[in-house]
Amino acid sequence: MNFEEIKNTDETYGAKTFSRFPVAFAGGHGATLIDTAGKEYVDFGAGIAVNIFGANDEEWKQAVIGQLNKVQHVSNLYYCEPQAELMRLLCERTGAKRVFFANSGAEANECAFKAARAYSFKKYGAGRHKIVTLKNSFHGRTLFTLTATGQDAFHTLFDPFVSGVDYAEANMASIRKVADRSTCAVAIECVQGESGVIPLDREFVRALESYCKERDILLIVDEVQTGNGRTGKLYAYEHYGVSPDLVTTAKGIAGGLPLGACLFFGKTENAFAPGEHGSTFGGNPVCCAAAVNVVNRLTEEFLLEVQGKAEYLRAKLKGFDGVKEVTGLGMMIGLATEKSAKEVAEACLKKGLLVLTAHGRVRIVPPLTITKREMDEGLSILKEVLK
Ligand SMILES: *Cc1c(COP(=O)(O)O)cnc(C)c1O
Repeated sequence: MNFEEIKNTDETYGAKTFSRFPVAFAGGHGATLIDTAGKEYVDFGAGIAVNIFGANDEEWKQAVIGQLNKVQHVSNLYYCEPQAELMRLLCERTGAKRVFFANSGAEANECAFKAARAYSFKKYGAGRHKIVTLKNSFHGRTLFTLTATGQDAFHTLFDPFVSGVDYAEANMASIRKVADRSTCAVAIECVQGESGVIPLDREFVRALESYCKERDILLIVDEVQTGNGRTGKLYAYEHYGVSPDLVTTAKGIAGGLPLGACLFFGKTENAFAPGEHGSTFGGNPVCCAAAVNVVNRLTEEFLLEVQGKAEYLRAKLKGFDGVKEVTGLGMMIGLATEKSAKEVAEACLKKGLLVLTAHGRVRIVPPLTITKREMDEGLSILKEVLK
Protein backbone atom coordinates (compact mmCIF):
# COMPACT_ATOMS: atom_id res chain seq x y z
CA MET A 1 0.00 0.00 0.00
CA ASN A 2 1.19 3.52 -0.66
CA PHE A 3 0.53 6.23 1.93
CA GLU A 4 -2.84 7.31 0.51
CA GLU A 5 -4.06 3.70 0.47
CA ILE A 6 -2.93 3.12 4.06
CA LYS A 7 -4.60 6.33 5.20
CA ASN A 8 -7.87 5.66 3.37
CA THR A 9 -8.07 2.08 4.60
CA ASP A 10 -7.36 3.16 8.19
CA GLU A 11 -9.97 5.90 8.00
CA THR A 12 -12.53 3.51 6.55
CA TYR A 13 -12.08 0.67 9.03
CA GLY A 14 -10.39 2.01 12.17
CA ALA A 15 -12.40 2.97 15.24
CA LYS A 16 -12.26 6.73 15.22
CA THR A 17 -10.16 6.97 18.38
CA PHE A 18 -7.05 8.62 16.91
CA SER A 19 -6.39 11.80 14.98
CA ARG A 20 -3.15 10.89 13.28
CA PHE A 21 -0.39 12.95 11.71
CA PRO A 22 -0.37 12.47 7.92
CA VAL A 23 2.53 10.03 7.73
CA ALA A 24 3.20 6.27 7.92
CA PHE A 25 6.59 4.86 8.79
CA ALA A 26 8.11 1.94 6.96
CA GLY A 27 11.44 1.64 8.75
CA GLY A 28 14.25 3.38 10.53
CA HIS A 29 17.56 3.20 12.33
CA GLY A 30 18.37 4.75 15.69
CA ALA A 31 16.53 8.03 16.17
CA THR A 32 15.82 8.29 12.44
CA LEU A 33 12.56 7.05 10.91
CA ILE A 34 11.77 6.58 7.22
CA ASP A 35 8.26 7.05 5.83
CA THR A 36 6.56 5.07 3.07
CA ALA A 37 7.87 7.52 0.46
CA GLY A 38 11.46 7.18 1.67
CA LYS A 39 11.67 10.55 3.48
CA GLU A 40 13.75 10.61 6.68
CA TYR A 41 12.70 12.12 10.00
CA VAL A 42 14.61 12.76 13.20
CA ASP A 43 12.64 11.11 16.01
CA PHE A 44 12.19 13.24 19.15
CA GLY A 45 9.17 11.16 20.20
CA ALA A 46 10.34 7.53 20.34
CA GLY A 47 6.80 6.25 19.82
CA ILE A 48 5.70 8.18 22.96
CA ALA A 49 8.78 7.49 25.10
CA VAL A 50 8.82 3.80 24.18
CA ASN A 51 11.68 3.06 21.76
CA ILE A 52 14.49 3.61 24.22
CA PHE A 53 17.15 2.37 21.79
CA GLY A 54 15.39 3.75 18.71
CA ALA A 55 14.67 1.62 15.65
CA ASN A 56 16.59 -1.44 14.56
CA ASP A 57 18.94 -1.64 17.51
CA GLU A 58 21.03 -4.71 16.72
CA GLU A 59 21.59 -6.04 20.25
CA TRP A 60 17.94 -5.55 21.25
CA LYS A 61 16.75 -7.28 18.06
CA GLN A 62 19.01 -10.26 18.77
CA ALA A 63 17.48 -10.59 22.25
CA VAL A 64 13.97 -10.58 20.73
CA ILE A 65 14.79 -12.93 17.88
CA GLY A 66 16.65 -15.26 20.25
CA GLN A 67 13.48 -15.71 22.30
CA LEU A 68 11.25 -15.94 19.20
CA ASN A 69 13.39 -18.84 18.05
CA LYS A 70 12.60 -20.65 21.33
CA VAL A 71 8.92 -20.05 22.12
CA GLN A 72 6.72 -16.96 21.79
CA HIS A 73 4.26 -17.47 24.66
CA VAL A 74 3.70 -19.99 27.43
CA SER A 75 1.06 -18.36 29.75
CA ASN A 76 1.44 -17.77 33.45
CA LEU A 77 0.50 -21.37 34.24
CA TYR A 78 4.18 -22.21 33.83
CA TYR A 79 7.58 -20.80 34.83
CA CYS A 80 9.44 -18.79 32.23
CA GLU A 81 13.16 -17.96 32.20
CA PRO A 82 13.11 -14.45 30.70
CA GLN A 83 10.38 -13.50 33.20
CA ALA A 84 12.38 -14.86 36.12
CA GLU A 85 15.50 -13.08 34.93
CA LEU A 86 13.68 -9.77 34.52
CA MET A 87 12.06 -10.05 37.97
CA ARG A 88 15.44 -10.59 39.57
CA LEU A 89 17.06 -7.75 37.61
CA LEU A 90 14.33 -5.27 38.54
CA CYS A 91 14.38 -6.27 42.20
CA GLU A 92 18.18 -6.15 42.41
CA ARG A 93 18.33 -2.74 40.75
CA THR A 94 15.54 -1.11 42.77
CA GLY A 95 15.34 -2.96 46.07
CA ALA A 96 11.78 -4.08 45.26
CA LYS A 97 10.70 -7.39 46.80
CA ARG A 98 8.42 -8.66 44.03
CA VAL A 99 7.21 -7.88 40.51
CA PHE A 100 3.98 -8.43 38.58
CA PHE A 101 4.03 -8.19 34.79
CA ALA A 102 1.22 -6.69 32.72
CA ASN A 103 1.00 -5.55 29.10
CA SER A 104 0.66 -1.79 29.39
CA GLY A 105 0.93 1.20 31.66
CA ALA A 106 -2.77 1.22 32.45
CA GLU A 107 -2.64 -2.42 33.46
CA ALA A 108 0.44 -1.87 35.61
CA ASN A 109 -1.49 0.90 37.41
CA GLU A 110 -4.61 -1.24 37.63
CA CYS A 111 -2.44 -3.82 39.40
CA ALA A 112 -1.03 -1.22 41.82
CA PHE A 113 -4.47 0.17 42.68
CA LYS A 114 -5.86 -3.31 43.26
CA ALA A 115 -2.76 -4.24 45.29
CA ALA A 116 -3.25 -1.16 47.48
CA ARG A 117 -6.86 -2.07 48.17
CA ALA A 118 -5.98 -5.73 48.78
CA TYR A 119 -3.15 -4.75 51.16
CA SER A 120 -5.45 -2.51 53.13
CA PHE A 121 -8.38 -4.96 53.16
CA LYS A 122 -6.20 -7.77 54.50
CA LYS A 123 -4.78 -5.56 57.24
CA TYR A 124 -7.70 -3.32 58.20
CA GLY A 125 -10.83 -4.90 56.74
CA ALA A 126 -13.39 -3.34 54.41
CA GLY A 127 -13.84 0.39 53.86
CA ARG A 128 -10.25 1.64 53.74
CA HIS A 129 -10.24 1.76 49.97
CA LYS A 130 -9.86 5.37 48.83
CA ILE A 131 -7.13 6.12 46.32
CA VAL A 132 -6.00 9.73 46.11
CA THR A 133 -4.42 10.93 42.87
CA LEU A 134 -3.34 14.37 41.73
CA LYS A 135 -5.18 16.88 39.61
CA ASN A 136 -3.73 16.94 36.09
CA SER A 137 -2.42 13.41 36.47
CA PHE A 138 -2.63 10.71 33.83
CA HIS A 139 -2.79 7.05 34.76
CA GLY A 140 -4.33 5.29 31.74
CA ARG A 141 -7.49 4.48 29.80
CA THR A 142 -9.11 1.55 31.61
CA LEU A 143 -12.07 2.58 33.72
CA PHE A 144 -10.16 2.47 37.03
CA THR A 145 -7.08 4.25 35.68
CA LEU A 146 -9.22 6.77 33.79
CA THR A 147 -11.06 7.44 37.04
CA ALA A 148 -7.67 7.93 38.69
CA THR A 149 -6.67 10.38 35.95
CA GLY A 150 -7.33 13.76 37.56
CA GLN A 151 -8.49 15.64 34.48
CA ASP A 152 -12.15 16.50 33.98
CA ALA A 153 -11.76 16.31 30.21
CA PHE A 154 -11.45 12.54 30.52
CA HIS A 155 -14.49 12.23 32.75
CA THR A 156 -17.40 13.13 30.52
CA LEU A 157 -18.53 10.03 28.65
CA PHE A 158 -18.10 7.00 30.83
CA ASP A 159 -20.21 7.38 33.95
CA PRO A 160 -20.43 5.71 36.35
CA PHE A 161 -16.75 5.72 37.22
CA VAL A 162 -15.00 3.56 39.83
CA SER A 163 -15.94 4.80 43.28
CA GLY A 164 -13.39 5.51 45.99
CA VAL A 165 -11.03 7.74 44.01
CA ASP A 166 -10.44 11.41 44.87
CA TYR A 167 -8.13 14.16 43.62
CA ALA A 168 -5.76 16.52 45.39
CA GLU A 169 -3.61 19.42 44.25
CA ALA A 170 0.12 18.78 44.34
CA ASN A 171 0.59 20.29 47.80
CA MET A 172 0.31 18.93 51.34
CA ALA A 173 -2.57 21.18 52.41
CA SER A 174 -4.69 19.70 49.65
CA ILE A 175 -3.54 16.13 50.36
CA ARG A 176 -4.50 16.57 54.04
CA LYS A 177 -7.92 17.80 53.01
CA VAL A 178 -8.64 15.02 50.51
CA ALA A 179 -7.00 12.01 52.19
CA ASP A 180 -8.86 10.63 55.21
CA ARG A 181 -9.19 7.49 57.33
CA SER A 182 -10.62 5.59 54.36
CA THR A 183 -7.50 6.23 52.24
CA CYS A 184 -5.26 3.29 51.35
CA ALA A 185 -2.96 4.91 48.77
CA VAL A 186 -1.79 8.08 47.10
CA ALA A 187 -0.56 7.85 43.50
CA ILE A 188 1.75 10.37 41.84
CA GLU A 189 3.85 10.82 38.71
CA CYS A 190 7.17 12.49 39.58
CA VAL A 191 6.89 14.32 36.27
CA GLN A 192 3.34 14.73 34.99
CA GLY A 193 3.94 13.78 31.38
CA GLU A 194 0.59 13.95 29.63
CA SER A 195 -0.33 17.19 31.35
CA GLY A 196 2.61 19.19 30.08
CA VAL A 197 5.84 17.58 31.38
CA ILE A 198 5.60 19.23 34.80
CA PRO A 199 7.88 17.87 37.55
CA LEU A 200 6.50 17.71 41.08
CA ASP A 201 8.14 19.81 43.75
CA ARG A 202 10.81 17.86 45.63
CA GLU A 203 9.76 19.08 49.08
CA PHE A 204 6.16 18.11 48.37
CA VAL A 205 7.08 14.57 47.33
CA ARG A 206 9.26 14.11 50.42
CA ALA A 207 6.57 15.48 52.72
CA LEU A 208 4.02 13.23 51.04
CA GLU A 209 6.26 10.22 51.66
CA SER A 210 6.43 10.95 55.42
CA TYR A 211 2.72 11.68 55.59
CA CYS A 212 1.93 8.32 53.96
CA LYS A 213 4.43 6.36 56.07
CA GLU A 214 2.97 7.72 59.32
CA ARG A 215 -0.52 6.56 58.33
CA ASP A 216 0.32 3.29 56.51
CA ILE A 217 -1.04 4.86 53.32
CA LEU A 218 0.78 3.35 50.37
CA LEU A 219 2.75 5.67 48.10
CA ILE A 220 2.33 4.60 44.49
CA VAL A 221 4.69 6.15 41.96
CA ASP A 222 3.54 5.88 38.35
CA GLU A 223 6.78 5.60 36.37
CA VAL A 224 5.11 4.47 33.17
CA GLN A 225 6.63 7.39 31.26
CA THR A 226 9.41 8.58 33.58
CA GLY A 227 10.91 5.13 34.13
CA ASN A 228 13.66 3.08 32.55
CA GLY A 229 16.32 5.74 32.15
CA ARG A 230 14.09 8.44 30.68
CA THR A 231 15.03 11.05 33.29
CA GLY A 232 18.68 10.01 33.57
CA LYS A 233 18.05 7.67 36.51
CA LEU A 234 16.64 4.16 36.28
CA TYR A 235 13.44 5.51 37.92
CA ALA A 236 12.57 9.16 38.47
CA TYR A 237 11.71 8.74 42.18
CA GLU A 238 15.47 8.34 42.73
CA HIS A 239 15.84 12.07 41.96
CA TYR A 240 13.46 12.77 44.83
CA GLY A 241 15.13 10.57 47.42
CA VAL A 242 11.91 8.79 48.37
CA SER A 243 11.04 5.10 48.83
CA PRO A 244 7.67 4.27 47.27
CA ASP A 245 5.62 1.21 48.25
CA LEU A 246 4.48 0.42 44.73
CA VAL A 247 6.07 1.51 41.44
CA THR A 248 4.51 0.99 38.05
CA THR A 249 6.24 1.19 34.71
CA ALA A 250 5.70 0.30 31.06
CA LYS A 251 6.40 2.43 27.96
CA GLY A 252 10.19 2.12 27.59
CA ILE A 253 10.79 -1.00 29.63
CA ALA A 254 10.86 -3.45 26.73
CA GLY A 255 12.23 -0.99 24.16
CA GLY A 256 9.16 -1.11 21.91
CA LEU A 257 7.29 -4.29 22.82
CA PRO A 258 4.22 -4.19 25.09
CA LEU A 259 5.12 -4.83 28.71
CA GLY A 260 4.07 -3.29 32.00
CA ALA A 261 5.37 -3.99 35.47
CA CYS A 262 4.25 -3.31 39.01
CA LEU A 263 7.04 -3.41 41.60
CA PHE A 264 6.14 -4.29 45.19
CA PHE A 265 8.41 -2.82 47.85
CA GLY A 266 8.72 -3.76 51.53
CA LYS A 267 5.41 -4.27 53.26
CA THR A 268 3.41 -4.70 50.05
CA GLU A 269 5.06 -7.96 49.04
CA ASN A 270 2.15 -10.07 50.29
CA ALA A 271 -0.62 -7.86 48.88
CA PHE A 272 -1.68 -10.65 46.54
CA ALA A 273 -2.06 -14.39 47.01
CA PRO A 274 -2.45 -16.88 44.12
CA GLY A 275 -5.59 -16.21 42.07
CA GLU A 276 -6.10 -12.65 43.30
CA HIS A 277 -4.70 -11.01 40.19
CA GLY A 278 -3.52 -12.25 36.81
CA SER A 279 -2.98 -11.75 33.09
CA THR A 280 -2.91 -14.01 30.04
CA PHE A 281 -0.24 -12.13 28.11
CA GLY A 282 1.47 -10.32 31.00
CA GLY A 283 5.15 -11.14 31.16
CA ASN A 284 5.22 -12.55 27.65
CA PRO A 285 8.64 -14.20 27.14
CA VAL A 286 9.54 -12.20 24.02
CA CYS A 287 8.68 -8.92 25.75
CA CYS A 288 10.59 -9.99 28.87
CA ALA A 289 13.66 -10.99 26.82
CA ALA A 290 13.54 -7.53 25.24
CA ALA A 291 13.23 -5.90 28.67
CA VAL A 292 16.15 -7.91 30.07
CA ASN A 293 18.25 -6.43 27.27
CA VAL A 294 16.95 -2.93 28.06
CA VAL A 295 17.46 -3.04 31.81
CA ASN A 296 20.90 -4.68 31.52
CA ARG A 297 22.04 -1.85 29.26
CA LEU A 298 20.73 0.95 31.50
CA THR A 299 24.02 0.98 33.38
CA GLU A 300 25.25 3.90 35.50
CA GLU A 301 27.56 4.83 32.62
CA PHE A 302 24.69 4.79 30.10
CA LEU A 303 22.51 6.88 32.44
CA LEU A 304 25.28 9.46 32.81
CA GLU A 305 25.37 9.75 29.02
CA VAL A 306 21.60 10.28 29.02
CA GLN A 307 22.03 13.08 31.57
CA GLY A 308 24.70 14.65 29.38
CA LYS A 309 22.48 14.53 26.28
CA ALA A 310 19.58 15.96 28.25
CA GLU A 311 21.70 18.87 29.45
CA TYR A 312 22.86 19.51 25.90
CA LEU A 313 19.30 19.56 24.52
CA ARG A 314 18.00 21.72 27.38
CA ALA A 315 20.78 24.29 27.09
CA LYS A 316 20.16 24.65 23.33
CA LEU A 317 16.38 24.80 23.68
CA LYS A 318 16.55 27.51 26.37
CA GLY A 319 18.36 29.75 23.92
CA PHE A 320 15.82 29.42 21.10
CA ASP A 321 13.56 32.32 20.10
CA GLY A 322 9.91 31.43 20.69
CA VAL A 323 10.59 29.24 23.75
CA LYS A 324 8.97 30.58 26.93
CA GLU A 325 9.89 27.78 29.31
CA VAL A 326 11.75 24.46 29.32
CA THR A 327 10.41 21.96 31.85
CA GLY A 328 10.70 18.28 32.73
CA LEU A 329 13.53 16.09 33.91
CA GLY A 330 16.37 14.52 31.92
CA MET A 331 15.33 13.34 28.46
CA MET A 332 11.71 14.13 29.18
CA ILE A 333 11.43 17.72 28.06
CA GLY A 334 8.46 20.08 27.89
CA LEU A 335 8.48 23.37 25.99
CA ALA A 336 6.08 26.24 26.48
CA THR A 337 6.22 27.97 23.13
CA GLU A 338 4.92 31.21 21.63
CA LYS A 339 3.36 29.31 18.72
CA SER A 340 0.80 26.66 19.58
CA ALA A 341 2.26 23.22 20.27
CA LYS A 342 0.08 21.69 17.59
CA GLU A 343 1.31 24.18 15.01
CA VAL A 344 4.92 23.47 16.04
CA ALA A 345 4.46 19.69 15.78
CA GLU A 346 2.86 19.97 12.34
CA ALA A 347 5.52 22.33 11.00
CA CYS A 348 8.30 20.08 12.39
CA LEU A 349 6.78 17.04 10.70
CA LYS A 350 6.82 18.79 7.31
CA LYS A 351 10.51 19.58 7.79
CA GLY A 352 11.43 16.06 8.93
CA LEU A 353 11.26 16.13 12.74
CA LEU A 354 8.86 14.25 15.02
CA VAL A 355 7.89 15.94 18.28
CA LEU A 356 4.96 15.26 20.60
CA THR A 357 2.58 17.58 22.37
CA ALA A 358 1.16 17.44 25.89
CA HIS A 359 -1.48 19.82 27.21
CA GLY A 360 -0.55 22.69 24.93
CA ARG A 361 3.18 22.13 25.28
CA VAL A 362 5.73 20.57 22.97
CA ARG A 363 7.04 17.31 24.43
CA ILE A 364 10.44 15.90 23.53
CA VAL A 365 11.25 12.32 24.55
CA PRO A 366 13.84 10.98 22.08
CA PRO A 367 15.38 7.52 22.04
CA LEU A 368 18.03 7.53 24.78
CA THR A 369 20.62 6.38 22.25
CA ILE A 370 20.09 9.43 20.03
CA THR A 371 23.37 10.63 18.50
CA LYS A 372 24.83 14.13 18.59
CA ARG A 373 24.23 14.42 14.84
CA GLU A 374 20.56 13.44 15.20
CA MET A 375 20.11 15.88 18.11
CA ASP A 376 21.67 18.71 16.11
CA GLU A 377 19.57 17.95 13.05
CA GLY A 378 16.40 17.93 15.12
CA LEU A 379 17.39 21.07 17.01
CA SER A 380 18.06 23.04 13.84
CA ILE A 381 14.59 22.18 12.49
CA LEU A 382 12.99 23.07 15.80
CA LYS A 383 14.87 26.37 15.98
CA GLU A 384 13.61 27.36 12.54
CA VAL A 385 10.01 26.34 13.34
CA LEU A 386 9.88 28.06 16.74
CA LYS A 387 11.14 31.50 15.77
C1 LIG B 1 1.25 6.43 29.03
C2 LIG B 1 0.95 6.48 30.46
C3 LIG B 1 0.05 5.58 31.05
C4 LIG B 1 -0.77 4.60 30.25
O1 LIG B 1 0.03 3.65 29.61
P1 LIG B 1 -0.63 2.70 28.48
O2 LIG B 1 0.50 1.77 28.13
O3 LIG B 1 -1.05 3.58 27.37
O4 LIG B 1 -1.76 2.00 29.11
C5 LIG B 1 -0.13 5.63 32.42
N1 LIG B 1 0.57 6.51 33.18
C6 LIG B 1 1.45 7.39 32.64
C7 LIG B 1 2.18 8.31 33.54
C8 LIG B 1 1.66 7.41 31.27
O5 LIG B 1 2.51 8.29 30.74
